Amino acid sequence: MPVGRRHAGRAPAPRSEHAGRVRVVRLRIDPALRFLLTPRHRGGIFTAGAADTDTWGHVVESVGVPLTEVGALTVDGATVAASARAVDGLLRVEPVRRPQATASSPPRFLLDVHLGSLTRRLRLLGLDAAYRPEADDPALVRIAAAEGRVLLTQDRGLLRRHSLPHGALVRGSSADEQLDDVLDRFAPPLAPWTRCTACGGVLAPVAARDVAAVVRAGTARSYRDFGRCVDCGHVYWRGAHAARIEPVVARARDVVARRRSRSS
Ligand SMILES: [Zn+2]
Repeated sequence: MPVGRRHAGRAPAPRSEHAGRVRVVRLRIDPALRFLLTPRHRGGIFTAGAADTDTWGHVVESVGVPLTEVGALTVDGATVAASARAVDGLLRVEPVRRPQATASSPPRFLLDVHLGSLTRRLRLLGLDAAYRPEADDPALVRIAAAEGRVLLTQDRGLLRRHSLPHGALVRGSSADEQLDDVLDRFAPPLAPWTRCTACGGVLAPVAARDVAAVVRAGTARSYRDFGRCVDCGHVYWRGAHAARIEPVVARARDVVARRRSRSS
């Protein structure tokens, strides 16, 4: 999976296995997270070097796993905090439990520049998905923090920024796979056809006569349900694209329902 490859330069600097480290810690990363590890670490238990001041969080990040992807950490069966100083023992690293709770309900998302197609799909399903392709990494982190949004990205370096309160590494190379992953992870409430896919604004119902100026006469006669984006004014109706979009909506509902039934 090509996660993080684009930004490989920001991964932890290569070094001889434990050079300059005073402690050798043992790790067992859950199989669901092993795709993030260097291939020689994917077999099971392995060791990593840690400085005396390193926390468990530092150790986990140093082997390539962003803390946004990590659920429970245990050492010899006892739960430890990511902020606790690393000590001797075997650290077990579990993935985030799904569905993952978010700071706001329904969740609010912010997507990085590479996830434009995923952004449109989330909006089609009625989810609050902000997209600021002009923002650089520090700006993205600031927006996510200020607006209480979960930053969705495939850039592990971005997720390692410590001022980022909530983030998630999106799995999958196609927009369809990415959508499945986000829906499976957060199992958010869906409200298809309620948001503008262009800007994310909410659609307000509008009468056919009020959109006559912006849609063709035939369209105004053929359809009754129109919605206008309260932010950008774009007009929507369930027209020629509905047959193509309905299967996307049906699949999304199925992914969310399956995740919710597994967790209850
Ligand atoms: Zn709009």
